[in-house]
Amino acid sequence: MDGRLGRWGLGLLQSLSITLHRFWLALFDYLAGRPRLERTATGVRQPPHHWGVFTVQYPEEKLVLPERFRSFPVLLYEEETGKIRCTSCGICAKVCPPQCIWIERTTGPDGKPVPEPKDFVIDLSICMSCGFCAEYCPFDAIKMDHRYELATYERQRALVRHLPDLLVSTRYYAETHPLAWAEEEAARARKGRGAQAEAGE
Ligand code: SF4
Ligand code: SF4
Repeated sequence: MDGRLGRWGLGLLQSLSITLHRFWLALFDYLAGRPRLERTATGVRQPPHHWGVFTVQYPEEKLVLPERFRSFPVLLYEEETGKIRCTSCGICAKVCPPQCIWIERTTGPDGKPVPEPKDFVIDLSICMSCGFCAEYCPFDAIKMDHRYELATYERQRALVRHLPDLLVSTRYYAETHPLAWAEEEAARARKGRGAQAEAGE
């Protein structure tokens, strides 16, 4: 029993020392007259090399989100042509751990399947923002969005999202995820050059 109390006491002291450490850093920043927060066009952030505690006056102030922040999935369509990238292959629905994606594939006049979704449904009240759907999509068609203020009193209308509610343009994605967009474009260009070389063009 004494040993356990000793470990708890040590744990308590360790956590208090972290709080105190942050407090002194914040006080030091204040006394040195250094700004608590840096304001940018997309929100506020702690200046580099500042490690003290700080308060964000949400919702008036919002933190700048890191590019890899994940809220919920969205589907991309090409800015220039309006073409939806998704081919309704169903991989994302298969890998989704809580199984909150449903896809209805388009059917042509001859009754054969067409590789585009007639409807695409994601239940955001079940989605756990794991990002597996975006990781596994072979067509870069589904991506994790940054928008997170989705609180609602009514689940069905607001959180069960259908195809039109999920679509965002490639330009929107390029603006919110510039690094990922550049990497994906470079990979697409390399693939295109490889295909041309194979065809002997
Ligand atoms: S989003 Fe991607 S993985 Fe999901 S069905 Fe469409 S193409 Fe397939
Ligand atoms: S982020 Fe995860 S839980 Fe949400 S739809 Fe994608 S795979 Fe499913």
